[in-house]
Amino acid sequence: MIRLACSKLVLLVVVGSALAAHAWADGETLPGRDPKQPVDESYTEKIHKYTTQPVFTSPLVDYLPASNKVPTPQVVLGDVAGAPGILPYAEDVYRYMRLLEKATPRVKVYSIGKTEEGREMIAVAVSSEENLKNLEENRARLAKLADPRTIKLDDAEADKLVAEAVPIYYITGTIHSPETGAPTALMELAYRLAVDESPYIREIRDGTITLITPVVEVDGRDRMVDVYKWHLAHPKQFYPWLVYWGKYVAHDNNRDAMGVTLKLTENVLNTYVNWKAQVLHDLHESVPYLYDNTIGDEPYNAWIDPILADEWQIIGWNNVSAMTKFGMPGVFAHGDFDTWSPGYLMFIAALHNGISRLYETFGNGGADTEERTLEPEQYARTWYRQNPPLPKVLWSQRDNNNYEETGLLTSLHFFTENKQRFLKNFYLKAKRSTMKPSEEGPAAYVLPGDDPRPGLQAEVLRALQRQAVEISRARSAFAVTLPAKKAKEPAKGKDQREEKSDPPAPTTREFPAGSYIIRMDQPYSRIADALLDHQYWSPDDPQKTPYDDTGWTFGELFHVQVTRVTDPRVLEVAMDRVTEIHAPGGVKGEGTLFAINNNAEPALATLRYKFKDAAIEAAEEPFESAGKKFNRGSFLVRNLSRSDLDRAAGELGVQVIALSAPPAVKTHPVRAARIAFVHTWLSTQTEGWWRMALDKLAIPYDYMSTQAIAKLSDLRSKYDVVLFPPVGYNAGVNAVVNGIPTAWGNPLPWKNAPETPNLVGKNDSTDDLRPGLGWQGVAHLQEFVERGGVLLTATDTSSLALSLGFADGISLQNANKMKIVGSVVGTRLVDEASPIAYGYDEGVAAYCDNGPIFSLSSIAGQRGRRRLGPQMHARPTGRGSVDDPDFAVGRPGAAAPEEPKSEIWESPPVSAEQRRNGFRVIPASLRARVIFRYADTKDLLVSGLVEGGDEIAEHPAVVDAPSGKGHLVLFSINPVYRGETWGTYAMVLSAILNFDNLNAGRKDAAP
Ligand SMILES: [Zn+2]
Repeated sequence: MIRLACSKLVLLVVVGSALAAHAWADGETLPGRDPKQPVDESYTEKIHKYTTQPVFTSPLVDYLPASNKVPTPQVVLGDVAGAPGILPYAEDVYRYMRLLEKATPRVKVYSIGKTEEGREMIAVAVSSEENLKNLEENRARLAKLADPRTIKLDDAEADKLVAEAVPIYYITGTIHSPETGAPTALMELAYRLAVDESPYIREIRDGTITLITPVVEVDGRDRMVDVYKWHLAHPKQFYPWLVYWGKYVAHDNNRDAMGVTLKLTENVLNTYVNWKAQVLHDLHESVPYLYDNTIGDEPYNAWIDPILADEWQIIGWNNVSAMTKFGMPGVFAHGDFDTWSPGYLMFIAALHNGISRLYETFGNGGADTEERTLEPEQYARTWYRQNPPLPKVLWSQRDNNNYEETGLLTSLHFFTENKQRFLKNFYLKAKRSTMKPSEEGPAAYVLPGDDPRPGLQAEVLRALQRQAVEISRARSAFAVTLPAKKAKEPAKGKDQREEKSDPPAPTTREFPAGSYIIRMDQPYSRIADALLDHQYWSPDDPQKTPYDDTGWTFGELFHVQVTRVTDPRVLEVAMDRVTEIHAPGGVKGEGTLFAINNNAEPALATLRYKFKDAAIEAAEEPFESAGKKFNRGSFLVRNLSRSDLDRAAGELGVQVIALSAPPAVKTHPVRAARIAFVHTWLSTQTEGWWRMALDKLAIPYDYMSTQAIAKLSDLRSKYDVVLFPPVGYNAGVNAVVNGIPTAWGNPLPWKNAPETPNLVGKNDSTDDLRPGLGWQGVAHLQEFVERGGVLLTATDTSSLALSLGFADGISLQNANKMKIVGSVVGTRLVDEASPIAYGYDEGVAAYCDNGPIFSLSSIAGQRGRRRLGPQMHARPTGRGSVDDPDFAVGRPGAAAPEEPKSEIWESPPVSAEQRRNGFRVIPASLRARVIFRYADTKDLLVSGLVEGGDEIAEHPAVVDAPSGKGHLVLFSINPVYRGETWGTYAMVLSAILNFDNLNAGRKDAAP
């Protein structure tokens, strides 16, 4: 028999006695090792050595059972899981999982896809030999429960399946790369589940299939391990921060479960859906010591089944209860995480009839053992955290692994004990989703077959398809009844009798053949409903700090028509399931000149870049030709073979009309502008979504840092457009221009070296992350614009450009009460003749996250107006009513000159007084041109939270400021965000393509 070292025995006794002091429920299996199974003595000894306090472990993980055929993680790690100084690369983790697969029939490894940079993602199934042998039969049972239509919603049949099925609990690790502990914890967990013969673990193994993706963000994991290795190689130096995780985004990789634009989301979603898993449990590390944020805080997402809300409570509280009994401090649920946004990876389960779960454990961002000091609010005892974390501790990666594994094992055990309940719930949630049309509505969403933006419509439908939503198409035209709109309150002061005449009546809406129908009588109706419906977050909500975006309505953000239909007749329309969504495209008509209507669809830009040598012009006015109407900005294409264009247009879903004669309309060239894409070294995430959008659209650009801009003189000869997308983090003048201080510390390199082979990937590199744009870089950007370039900025980089004085006559106003937290807002088109507005009609919904408030002025150096408090120029106290003139006794009245009026988004008219020696008056042709403005206060909210919206309502949302020979194009909205804002992409793309003709259509253009 293997015996424990003496000192360790003492420790075990302490834990063991603490456990024995309280009773577990009657008949419940006690956690803890099987005394008959030998323990791996040296491994166990190291577990104890690396655990910094006895209370930081549990009887589930304070030993490792021995096996004479199954290797422990030590064979790959060289030490135990959670050992100091050891962080395995993803491939090391995979190597271990495959060793397990070889050594025991209780483990199987599946490849589930690749990342953007080509690294493999895996899922590891651990269960009894029998369960893994019968995977396919089991999958068939689960598939029936997942889609109750297959058993005709027969509850008795479901009960039979529930009794026979083995449920699947899916665990995902280290999606957030600096949260490093999960891979080793999951290696050891897999070993325990495969090897341990204690009744507690055996029950899990026999009753459940545990599915594990040990590394979700594989590209980011390998970079993080590189950084950690650099740190180990330079122990006395500061180490670089993880400026890139995945190819495109960092922390936002856990905000992609709506758009499913990243490979990791797609791979996990497909695994979850194909395995018909009941749980998706995602592991994070940012809160001491184990925060089960599944229960979270209100508001809960409005589209989840209430059965799920109950499951969160049941599992979450059991989890806290079990670990509390082990005496482990700092285990709690609730906290400040709200469950509103469905963007988190775990929410794949929440809106596909499963159970979403998330842990925050405590990590050191690496494998060093360190003294950690908490903030008072972190160690305070609260009603939901009766045994809070300690104010100051020595903390190790092993401590972290103990918590992660203990939490998971108690959850797996509780889940297994109650598997019939959870499987039945899984079925019930699917059944209730399928019965949605009759039980709660709506019956369907309809996307009309004659939407002017079929390409964008295809994008939104493909997003739904990635969510495994079924889509159908109507064979013929049909009509549905839409409910009466609630009457708006009559305007004050008007004759109310007239307005009251008829109560609003239901209306009939006709849809043409080919309209898309998303039926709500399908198992995954809830995700479709959640994405297509509107959101409302009340300013009075007790939750004052929304955790993430508050609005996301896909139809609005994709600029696509979506109708919510409650009329059940829509389900009787003759329709066919569609498996492939493709917008119609190709060339029609006769002629060698090709016209493409501009409806602000991004595919036009793709086409421009695809055929670099074609002569393409944009019509500056709408026109009619070949019996068709063309919008302003429509393309006229010459010098291109019909067959080439036909093929490309077919692929891109672009409809081209061949014309026999050129239309009589003013045009200008549309060029494939040379783009420099600028990023900072502070953060690359928010710009990453812009990179992803350009890559998807096959629009080439040179990617460079602010440091590169500082070194690049004569930017203008190399580039036409500089895109400087949002930084998203601490992007003030000081941070962007000066960077991180270099007066002390050491250079922080971001480059590939022997100990950092994975850092750079396909992105950028530098010898030192710290220096910023510098004043030289500022000068280069300014010169670039002066010499005819277009500098395009959004949100924080717009604020930066204005703070740096890049444009006159535009000022930034402070927000006082405004709170727009990741919301969908209304905009209105102000200048339809601007190329930036090509293809848009009167307004489009946009994404706004407390965007900067722009105000225009006609006077150089003067701040613009804003509408706050009482109206300016109200009449003074005197005779008469409010609209009357005052009078002065003893003299005739003097008529006051009419006050010039202007709208809030406009540059105010210049007064006669201002014109006296008016050297500050900006000539009309040099003033900023407002292309889009924010909607009026009452129309500003489209989806989400808008509080104090009057501070930004009607202010400019997109501005084109001429400067020298070039332009500064400033966005207050973020037009390119998380793959969800396709409807506003064309604003950016049109600014790029028309970079040298942005003054087209300008009413006050210089003579
Ligand atoms: Zn995290």
